[in-house]
Amino acid sequence: MVEIVDAKFITSAPNIDAAPDTDEQNEVVFMARSNVGKSSLLNALTNHKGLAKVSSTPGKTRLINYFDVTFLDRDSSQKSTAKFVDLPGFGYAKVSKSIKYDWEKNLTDYISQREQIKLFIHLVDCRHPDLDIDTSVSEFLFDNCAPNQYILQIFTKVDKLNQKEQSALRKKFPNAMMVSSSKKRGMQKAIKVIYDILHEDEQEQEGIDD
Ligand code: GDP
Repeated sequence: MVEIVDAKFITSAPNIDAAPDTDEQNEVVFMARSNVGKSSLLNALTNHKGLAKVSSTPGKTRLINYFDVTFLDRDSSQKSTAKFVDLPGFGYAKVSKSIKYDWEKNLTDYISQREQIKLFIHLVDCRHPDLDIDTSVSEFLFDNCAPNQYILQIFTKVDKLNQKEQSALRKKFPNAMMVSSSKKRGMQKAIKVIYDILHEDEQEQEGIDD
């Protein structure tokens, strides 16, 4: 079993130029439309209520926030670290056009240029799986992702769907995960998937993937 045993805020950056200077490719980027539940998921995954601010004003934060996260693999007692990166929520309508432009340019620059990213996590509200903006984000990620980077789609707030609706969503998006931060569902699985992607190189060497 893999757990997150520590998480702390490190810094905020307004754009890629101000991002932390590091050679490690261990960033896990969380991205979502505003209000999809990104902060709640970060808090639930790290078991740290106040880590990311669950905002009452959607779209307010325009900074890229960095968190140092420590994983513990209970089987091997090994600890390892990664950076969780909270990107500003996109697609918020109530900002002026010029702000929106700068903001989205920051996001697209970050996504397409930051080589330290290992995994892109695109969060989608399970009740609105087909919004144009999410489709364009998926396509953008797919087009800009390097061969050594991964994309994971996670549906949030699955507590809002009944069993039948959940099965239909699973059928339509077989590669996506489903979570509920408020009901703490899917957390361990999400942590394990993130951990395995971050450690894929070691696992290949050990032959675990065989
Ligand atoms: P963010 O803007 O993407 O960071 O979203 P927040 O984490 O601030 O959440 C937006 C709203 O959705 C808040 O009112 C949360 O309480 C609610 N929310 C977040 N996750 C869940 C969930 O798993 N289930 C339900 N029912 N509500 C959630």
